[in-house]
Order: sequence, then structure tokens, then C-alpha cells
Amino acid sequence: MTNPDELFDVVVVGGGLAGLAAALGLARARRSVLVVDAGHPRNAPSAHAHGYLTRDGAPPLELLRVGRAEVSGYGGEVVEGTVTSIKRLADGGFRVALADGTDREARRVLVTTGLVDELPDLPGLRDRWGRDVVHCPYCFGWELRDTPLGVLGTGPQAAEQALMWRQWSSQVTLLLHTAPGPAGDQLEQLAARGIAVVEGEVAAVEVAGDRLAGVRLRSGRVVELGALVVGPRFQARHAVLDDLGVTVAEHPRGIGRQVEADATGRTAAAGVWVAGNVADVTAGVMVAAASGVTAAAAINADLIAEDTARAVAAARA
Ligand SMILES: Cc1cc2nc3c(=O)[nH]c(=O)nc-3n(C[C@H](O)[C@H](O)[C@H](O)COP(=O)(O)OP(=O)(O)OC[C@H]3O[C@@H](n4cnc5c(N)ncnc54)[C@H](O)[C@@H]3O)c2cc1C
Repeated sequence: MTNPDELFDVVVVGGGLAGLAAALGLARARRSVLVVDAGHPRNAPSAHAHGYLTRDGAPPLELLRVGRAEVSGYGGEVVEGTVTSIKRLADGGFRVALADGTDREARRVLVTTGLVDELPDLPGLRDRWGRDVVHCPYCFGWELRDTPLGVLGTGPQAAEQALMWRQWSSQVTLLLHTAPGPAGDQLEQLAARGIAVVEGEVAAVEVAGDRLAGVRLRSGRVVELGALVVGPRFQARHAVLDDLGVTVAEHPRGIGRQVEADATGRTAAAGVWVAGNVADVTAGVMVAAASGVTAAAAINADLIAEDTARAVAAARA
């Protein structure tokens, strides 16, 4: 149980891999750190997280359970809760308000709240998300190798996405759905790679026995598939940062919006850092965790500079 009157060196908002990796670094740097986590990591719908070196295939929630224990082992605190606002105080610190009506104060804040995947609005699709409706070949490609895959076109990246997934399966169908037709030499590229192109809007996903069986087009035609690839729009969860003066910008590839920060996660707002998907919508699990580690070192350095300046001022006085 945290002491509400304690001034933390750092409050971390969000306890996914980015937040916990940062908290571990900060706790090991002998910083008082509190992680407030709402407990809904983005990859929770999936049974396994892939590509996390030495833990490949671990259940996402298991990774976080171990991570929380590691943070606690160094005196870091992790609490369940939702942060509703972060206000800057006159002394340069922050007041972090929680949905339970309590608040905590901190010298620095690190926001690692992740992102929202905006999925295509098709009946039955959301229920399959993270299982046989997927987006990321590096997360799911190996498990879906040689499976008949449909790529649901919802934007100009659709043909590129189909060509990408062809690396994992020779049975790829590009469902044009609401995407523009393939541009330039893409039709030739798709044909050369044996990717079928199906015109017409998809009306629903077809499920049989808790497995995706295919998609039904508005025309009534059913295309049989083992999995469906979608291109969600990625929206950084930045609401708690909105009063602090950070900048939110479109990703260079037009795939979503993320909080702008330098390579260490430092934002335009003094004392406010970001890491993980809130700052980089393309980050997978290792990159998200690594960005937390980088932010922790930068925050610690910033606090060391402040501690040193204060010590010098006190010594002079
Ligand atoms: C279905 C799916 C499967 C994936 N599989 C893989 C994979 O196999 N390999 C891979 O490399 N990548 C995978 N990813 C990507 C992976 O999910 C992200 O890289 C990773 O979750 C990013 O970590 P994060 O800490 O930035 O955010 P998250 O893991 O989303 O954690 C953010 C945390 O902050 C909390 N939070 C949000 N707002 C608040 C608030 N206001 N107050 C308190 N807490 C808050 C959330 O509840 C959550 O617990 C997958 C993504 C999806 C969608």
C-alpha cells in the first residue's frame, strides 16, 4: 500500500512491458517509483507473446506478473488503478490523480499507456482479434505459416501488406473491401507472387467451432480462410498527457497517431517522458521494453542533475 503523502521520484502511468521495464531500471537506480496500472495490456487477447528473447511464446500476462515481482523486489511499488489526470505543480513536480479519488505526487512522470487498435467495423471481427484476426506478421506469421490468409483492404497499404504476408504463406488473398485498387505495378507484383485479388466489400467474418472459417462478401460469396489480416489504425492513449503540453502527431507512414518525443522518450513538456506504444505505435514487445529502459536512464540522469544543482545551492548557502 502506498503512502499518499510520499513524494515519488517517478510515477509511471501504465504497467505494461514499457512501464515495468522502466520501473525496474529506476528502482535499481534507487529511485522511489510507483507504477499505476489499469491492467489491460494491448496483447492480452493473444495466448502467447512472440519475439521476446529468452521468453518467446510466454503468455502476455505472465510476462507482466514476473515483471511486477521483479520491480517489487527492488522496492518499486505497483498498484492497480487508472490515472485520470496529471497536473503540473508550481514546484515543477506533478500531481497524478487516480480514478479512486486519491492522488500521488512525483518529481517526474513517465507515461506508458499504450495505444488503442481501431479495428475495422465488421460483425464478428472483434471477437477473433489477437487469435485468427491479426495485424503483425512478426507476432503471428510463424504460427500462421502456410495458412490460407485473407488481407482485408481498408487503405492504401493493403497491397503492400499482402506482399508482406506472402513471406509466411503462399496462400494469400487480397480482399479489396474498402481499399483503393492496387496502384502502379502492384497488380503485376501481386500476380507474380500468386496473390489472388478479390473485389467487393466484406460483410462479415464467418466462424465455425470457435475458428475463423472465412469471410462473406456483400455479394453472398464466401472466401474460405484460416486467418484474416487487418490494418488497424493505431491511436496512442494520450488523454492523461493532454494538459501538459505534449505534441501528438501522425506516424510518418500514416498508420496512426503517437506522442512526439526524442530518442530517450523526453517530450516537449519538461519532466514528462513517454515510452512504448504511446510514443511508437510500431513497437513490439522487446522494443517497448527497451524504450522503457532508455527512458528510465534518461529520467535518472535528469534527477541526478537536479539533485546535484540543489546540493550545490545548499552548499553555497
Ligand atoms: C493482439 C496483439 C498481439 C500482439 N502480439 C505481439 C507479439 O507476439 N510480439 C510482439 O513483439 N508484439 C506483439 N504485440 C504488440 C504488443 O502488444 C506491444 O508491443 C506492447 O503491448 C507494448 O507495450 P506497452 O507497455 O507500450 O503497452 P501495453 O502493453 O498496452 O501496456 C499499457 C498498460 O497501460 C495501462 N493503462 C492505460 N491507460 C492507463 C491509465 N490511464 N492509467 C493506468 N494504466 C493505464 C493499460 O491497462 C496497460 O496495462 C501484439 C499486439 C496485439 C494487439
